[in-house]
Amino acid sequence: MVPVILALGSNMGNKEENLKKAVDLLSGIISDVKTSSLYLTRPVGETNQDIFFNMVLKGYTNLPPFELLEKCQHIEKKIGRVYRYHWGPREIDIDIIFYEDKVITTENLKVPHPLMQERDFVVIPLLEIDTEYLHPVLRVKVKDLIEWIKEISIVERRDF
Ligand code: ADP
Ligand code: MG
Repeated sequence: MVPVILALGSNMGNKEENLKKAVDLLSGIISDVKTSSLYLTRPVGETNQDIFFNMVLKGYTNLPPFELLEKCQHIEKKIGRVYRYHWGPREIDIDIIFYEDKVITTENLKVPHPLMQERDFVVIPLLEIDTEYLHPVLRVKVKDLIEWIKEISIVERRDF
C-alpha cells in the first residue's frame, strides 16, 4: 500500500452530497481515508460560475497510478459529472495530487498535480491532513507550501 492524496471539488447540484458520495465511493478503493474540512471557494480561472466546495483526502492504495486515475474518472461519471468546458462547472472533480513520492508527467496523468502549490483550496486543507508530506519535485514539505499560494479564493471553512 502506498499513500495517495486526492483533491475533490464540486460546484453543481448538491455540492456537499456529491462530495460525500465521492468520499464514500473512494473509500471502496482507498483504505484509511482521512478527510479535511470543506472549503467554500470563489472560482479561479473561469470566474463566471458558482462557488466551489473543495476538500482533500489522504489514504492508502495498492492500485497503480493509471488504474487509480481510471477509477477516479469512473467515480466522477457515477456521480453524474458532465464535461462542459475547460475549468468549467462540474458536479464532481477528483484530482490526484500526490501518489507516494512518484513524479509522473504524461499527457493523461501529471503527478504531483502541476498547479497544486498555487491553490489555497488544496494547500490549506492539506495542512489539516499531513503537514510533513514532501512535494517530490519542489522538495518542500506541505507546511512550507503556504509560501507558494498565488491568491486566496477560500471564503469559508465548514466541518465535513
Ligand atoms: P481539471 O481537473 O484540470 O479541471 P478535468 O477534471 O476535466 O480537468 O480533467 C482533465 C484531464 O486531466 C483528465 O482527462 C486527466 O487525464 C487529466 N489529468 C492529468 N493529471 C491529472 C491528475 N493528477 N489527476 C486527475 N486528472 C489528471
Ligand atoms: Mg480533474
